[in-house]
Amino acid sequence: MNRKEIEKNCQQFLDALIIFIQSNHDDTFMCYANWDWNPSRARSRGGIYKNGKPLINMAMYPKVYEAYQVYRNDKLVFHYREYTSFNDDQMIGQFYTDNLIMTLKALICHEVAHVWVRHDGYSMIAHGFNWKKRYAILREKHINPYHDPAINTQLYHKSSIDIKAPDEDEDKKQRDAFLANCGKYGLPQDALDSEFMFKKVIHRVVGWNTRARKYYVILKREDGKMLTGEPYWVDFCLRNKNHAIHT
Ligand SMILES: [Zn+2]
Repeated sequence: MNRKEIEKNCQQFLDALIIFIQSNHDDTFMCYANWDWNPSRARSRGGIYKNGKPLINMAMYPKVYEAYQVYRNDKLVFHYREYTSFNDDQMIGQFYTDNLIMTLKALICHEVAHVWVRHDGYSMIAHGFNWKKRYAILREKHINPYHDPAINTQLYHKSSIDIKAPDEDEDKKQRDAFLANCGKYGLPQDALDSEFMFKKVIHRVVGWNTRARKYYVILKREDGKMLTGEPYWVDFCLRNKNHAIHT
């Protein structure tokens, strides 16, 4: 299969995911893709970009040419790996397949779940509860039922190529950054002990040329309880972007 064919497969799969999300969850959902074959692009990303475009930026080269290939009894299989913290999860963790496209599809699900989370206004924790929930929906419907049961995970060794994502600790960094500012937002230091979600509304009210106002952070916990911080003057937003403030 050449690159064009691989891209075509991936795009068709993405289109199917979009239709699935639109018809079952949110008809305003949209996602575009950039299939990047540059060998220097090591990691894929998904999110809402600065221009407002929902996009997955896929690192095709490492997936297709380098990593995750394992030989067992002369049979080449592909090892789809996830972040260590949930790699062993039955639903959203690693798997083996003899179908390269399947590993790309799983990665597309991973990145589309990031876009979906952003679309819904949650952004704080990259691989937190909200992302996992959406990723699991996509995996359960579009990946896991298509695993070849003949390729038993137990039969294969872990890949000898152990690729550690450069920002494997991304979640932790984000949490730490937030926790360091908890006092400022008037929230308890243990605010992130359980999964919290930031409400989109915080960002809707902060913008360029906005006359400075006091804002407060509202966290919505997974159990539905709301936690409201102390009002504070905005000098940067929770997405770490500076906003022009006119006082
Ligand atoms: Zn991710």
